[in-house]
Amino acid sequence: MKYSPDEICRAAKAIQPYIVELLDAPNAQRLERQLEGLLSESSLKQGSHTELSSLLLEHEATRDWIRLYLEEQYPAEDILKALRIYYPLPGLMNPVESPRYVCPVEKCHQDWYRHKREEAIPMCPIHDLQLVIDS
Ligand SMILES: [Zn+2]
Repeated sequence: MKYSPDEICRAAKAIQPYIVELLDAPNAQRLERQLEGLLSESSLKQGSHTELSSLLLEHEATRDWIRLYLEEQYPAEDILKALRIYYPLPGLMNPVESPRYVCPVEKCHQDWYRHKREEAIPMCPIHDLQLVIDS
């Protein structure tokens, strides 16, 4: 599977909002951070696209997403639906096992995963409001 630097760049930007649904929480957070780092440089350094492509193709779910996007020309917003037909995504099962809680303030990015039922729901450290379940 070989994509051009342009294609990889385009796919990396397009996949960003969907990563959290494609991968389990730790992998999703790691990948989001790495992509942001690579994409935030105004022009990609030589070799950055190699790094991008190895990040994006490392996991089966993101690899399939990229393939549908670049090879089958699916619109980005339809791909999750298409992928669910193939296999249940780990990122989709994760919210059931570990529900995600978010700050009720819009645009606040504080979030937290409740791994155990007995864990108390924390407060947003910025707004001092209790996090609410993300639906
Ligand atoms: Zn907040």
